[in-house]
Amino acid sequence: MIPITTFAGKTVALFGLGGSGTVSALALMAGGAEVFAFDDSPAKVEQARAQGIRTMDLTLLDWSTVSALVLAPGVPLTHPTPHWSVARAHKEGVEIIGDIELLCRERAAAGLDCPLIAITGTNGKSTTTALIAHLMKSAGADVQMGGNIGIAALGLEPFADKRVYVLEVSSYQIDLAPSLRPTVGIMLNVSPDHLDRHGTMENYVALKTLLVAQVEEGGTAIIGVDDRYTRAAADRIERAGRKVVRVSVEAPLRDGFYADGSRIVRATEGKAYPVAQLAGIGSLRGAHNAQNAACAVAACVALGMDLPDIQKGLVSFPGLAHRMQTIGTAKTASGTVLYVNDSKATNADSTAKALSSFPDIYWIAGGKPKAGGIESLSEYWPRIRKAYLIGEAADDFAKTLDGKVDYEITGLLSLAVDSATRDAEASGLKESVVLLSPACASFDQYPNFEVRGKAFHDLVLALRGVTPI
Ligand code: ADP
Repeated sequence: MIPITTFAGKTVALFGLGGSGTVSALALMAGGAEVFAFDDSPAKVEQARAQGIRTMDLTLLDWSTVSALVLAPGVPLTHPTPHWSVARAHKEGVEIIGDIELLCRERAAAGLDCPLIAITGTNGKSTTTALIAHLMKSAGADVQMGGNIGIAALGLEPFADKRVYVLEVSSYQIDLAPSLRPTVGIMLNVSPDHLDRHGTMENYVALKTLLVAQVEEGGTAIIGVDDRYTRAAADRIERAGRKVVRVSVEAPLRDGFYADGSRIVRATEGKAYPVAQLAGIGSLRGAHNAQNAACAVAACVALGMDLPDIQKGLVSFPGLAHRMQTIGTAKTASGTVLYVNDSKATNADSTAKALSSFPDIYWIAGGKPKAGGIESLSEYWPRIRKAYLIGEAADDFAKTLDGKVDYEITGLLSLAVDSATRDAEASGLKESVVLLSPACASFDQYPNFEVRGKAFHDLVLALRGVTPI
């Protein structure tokens, strides 16, 4: 845990006692602050109390003594309407901040050389964050990774000289972190998302952009420029005098990093040379992962890492669970069947990434349907050898596929795995994939996408002849 000493001797109100809120309370207490914490859920208040956190209905607090309201990122700050604790803090003139802000202030106060790499974007944050941490760790760096992935930011190990912090930062967290000034800031991409929370696309883009616009003196802003929002942001930040490194997987650049087939190329004033090779790296398949990898490579280059070390790390990257994760392979008479768990794909957009990454697919899809269904995936129908439909969405998906793609309604995941395996084995293909990429939420049959992915994993590994990866 990182004890927060910048509020030592001060009173802090804290609202939101989920995972990160609880850690924030403990970190503030460890640094000497007097914390009064609360949540709208009595069960969460009770859990916090059991951990030794002082809890109190914040409507009863004497706010004249309060130095800051520390807000959990999930609590509405502005939209659809400010949470009551936010409204109260505004009324009392108390600043509202989050855990990333506490970390940044503590880092500044510590005065140590601790590079901070912060990653945001609508998609690919977790993959890029995990990849950068992996690349640096495998080259021997002392790395702490967390934030919106894994360990809450303040649950990481305390600052120490040369220790590197790699943080995934959501737009909600940026909203609560005015002094976030990373050494390397990365904005991967922006597309409409979370607009219920940010009101308008302009607000959402402006927030994401802050992370790269505010990189520290001498730092680097790395921006994926394959959408119009990030392209405009890159131009704006450069005009303001910051160093911007552009990344594209769609077109060569005169300056920056881009994908050329499976190679990542670096260009400087029109002179280009390859810096990394993604061919054969299963955990980084697909154009979307090329964007993540190119941004990660650009970050490591900015931090002075050697290219051979970067390449070695790319090759050994295991990927993240449930995101196009190859979990096993089986030899057949004609070749190989790959088993790929993409349970995190809970909507058609995410599933599109997986379908675009393999040529011959035995596709397991379905679950609790999302608005829009799978109509938008029709360009991938030629890649699908057969679909196996599960859960509540099965009938709807069957209607969409009818006459275009061979399908079977299996209802249960276990039956889908059996049928897909039987068909893939009999296909005569050199390489085929049994892909769970549901394009649906999991809640009709599983508590969450992780449990669904684990169920798939266990079913696959129980099959005869499957070698785990
Ligand atoms: P996040 O943390 O931003 O939710 P993840 O790295 O967990 O992103 O990836 C989640 C899903 O988003 C992946 O399974 C994939 O479908 C899609 N994805 C990943 N990277 C990108 C990217 N760079 N661009 C578009 N989609 C992506």
